[in-house]
Amino acid sequence: MSPEVLRQRLEFYRDLGIKQLYRRAPISIQRVTPEMNPPDIDMQLPSLVPAGDTLELIRTDIGDCTRCRLCKGRKKIVFGDGNPNARLVFVGEGPGADEDEQGIPFVRRAGQLLTQMIEGTAAKEGIPLKRAGVYICNVVKCRPPENRTPEPDEMEICGQFLFRQLSAIKPKAVCALGSTAAKALLGGKDGVTKLRGKWHKWHDIPLMVTYHPSYLLRPYNQNAKRESWEDLKKVLHFVYD
Ligand code: URA
Repeated sequence: MSPEVLRQRLEFYRDLGIKQLYRRAPISIQRVTPEMNPPDIDMQLPSLVPAGDTLELIRTDIGDCTRCRLCKGRKKIVFGDGNPNARLVFVGEGPGADEDEQGIPFVRRAGQLLTQMIEGTAAKEGIPLKRAGVYICNVVKCRPPENRTPEPDEMEICGQFLFRQLSAIKPKAVCALGSTAAKALLGGKDGVTKLRGKWHKWHDIPLMVTYHPSYLLRPYNQNAKRESWEDLKKVLHFVYD
């Protein structure tokens, strides 16, 4: 394994909250002289993504999931929706009541606003894009009770599937909607206000953070609405120009 691959693996484990790794065999320390090639790092870690992974395989692996407590209150698992070859993926927080009923992400008021934002901004900017052209999913696939924020362990358990979804789609950019998605994808504690409007990276894929559409629906957040439109414009031009 090359040092670069090892670095990426370790970063991924760190993002999952795994702070310690250990080797079973004792490490033999070898002196390196200029005549010798540096030793290869020999550390076998399990693969993060099965070879030839697809959205269908990921959905099959999720199955009738009971890996966390969210399974108790859910009606339907909300896996994701849209173009499996999308160049742009939006990631929200978790399904609400209507999404839980229908098994589709972002179908109610926040969803209508998201659709309007994608299609309206694209049309204004001369980009032929409809909602069906992007892919939309959430950090957790089951509705949290009373629409509460997902707990860290729920995000971690479900995070493996989000990781696989993004790895299978390989979009040109990801847009994190709100603080929960931003924290799940970037780690760290910063919220939207600090992170929005700038490019970040999710495993080498450019990632933009913007406000969650539910936040924009509150009447006193008109300024955030304008900022959100600016963020989306940046993303659409980056991906589709
Ligand atoms: N809010 C989300 O974060 N996701 C949905 O699917 C719906 C509302």
